Amino acid sequence: MSIDWLLTQLADSFSGSLRVAEPMSKHTTWRIGGPADLLAIPANERDLLSLFSYCQEIGLPWQIIGRGSNLLVKDGGIRGVVIKIDRSLGKITWLPNGLYAQAGISFMSLAQKSVEHGFTGLEWACGIPGNLGGAVIMNAGAYKAQLSDYVTKIDILEYTGCKKEVMASDIDFSYRKSNLVGKPLAILGVSLQLKPGNFVEGREKMRQLCAIRRDKQPLEYPSAGSVFKNPPNDFAGRLIEAAGCKGLTVGGAQVSTKHANFIVNIGHAQANDVITLMAMVQDRVEKMSGIVLEPEVHVIGE
Ligand SMILES: Cc1cc2nc3c(=O)[nH]c(=O)nc-3n(C[C@H](O)[C@H](O)[C@H](O)COP(=O)(O)OP(=O)(O)OC[C@H]3O[C@@H](n4cnc5c(N)ncnc54)[C@H](O)[C@@H]3O)c2cc1C
Repeated sequence: MSIDWLLTQLADSFSGSLRVAEPMSKHTTWRIGGPADLLAIPANERDLLSLFSYCQEIGLPWQIIGRGSNLLVKDGGIRGVVIKIDRSLGKITWLPNGLYAQAGISFMSLAQKSVEHGFTGLEWACGIPGNLGGAVIMNAGAYKAQLSDYVTKIDILEYTGCKKEVMASDIDFSYRKSNLVGKPLAILGVSLQLKPGNFVEGREKMRQLCAIRRDKQPLEYPSAGSVFKNPPNDFAGRLIEAAGCKGLTVGGAQVSTKHANFIVNIGHAQANDVITLMAMVQDRVEKMSGIVLEPEVHVIGE
């Protein structure tokens, strides 16, 4: 009922895309997830503002997503509105010492463009399939680098409609998380400070890092990358392998035989399969080592 009301309100003003009962499996890299009551892809900030304002008016739940590359959406789907911030909010502005980019740009494509533009710093992002907003929220990182090393300012839109510029020093970034997780806001754009670089060297570095990923990661299957965070001074993948979990399968979900910290969708996996498998892995690793693995992926929905 509330969705019908929202659709009526948005009918004349919303420029983006609205999809009712949209399977979230189409919007996650795991290719898993039940339907969202409504999936809204804003074409501009005005669309996003309208969504927030109408959701607030009738107390409709909402959830922001990017490329869904760190998400496990449960089989019952998501009640309310899923707001997908995508490439229509993905403009880059070049600055003398870096760039400002809107949150919906692909993080990998941003890294490539920054190298082409003569900057260095983001080459490690090659192979991270999220968008910039998700990368900031998750404090994405690889090869000992992390995004927070480059962020100077973030533009956010609070659920109340208030737009704010937040300095990076006021955000609490840590390993694969920030204190923006779970807050009622959308990241609109991010300023990154980068150093001058050499295009040929940067392109070669990215090529090499992508080759390493292809070699080590099961990129032939849908996944959400690393499922668990590395515990201090160890690797989740090493612990999972040592606990004998490689190849462990529940339904269509399998602990990758190539990289033990990946759970891959080997065919029609349900979220429940992944959740059961994650619990089995945690249990076996804890029994073997006493270490409780903490999920890196965000589980949402019902
Ligand atoms: C094959 C593969 C390899 C990967 N390798 C790495 C890696 O090396 N390093 C790494 O760190 N990660 C890696 N990941 C995980 C993932 O790509 C990153 O965490 C990515 O930054 C998530 O971005 P996203 O746009 O997909 O976010 P989503 O998964 O859509 O969302 C993640 C979280 O961010 C929130 N969010 C997203 N956008 C916004 C926004 N604009 N405003 C507010 N909240 C927002 C969501 O609500 C959610 O809580 C990998 C994933 C895959 C599939």
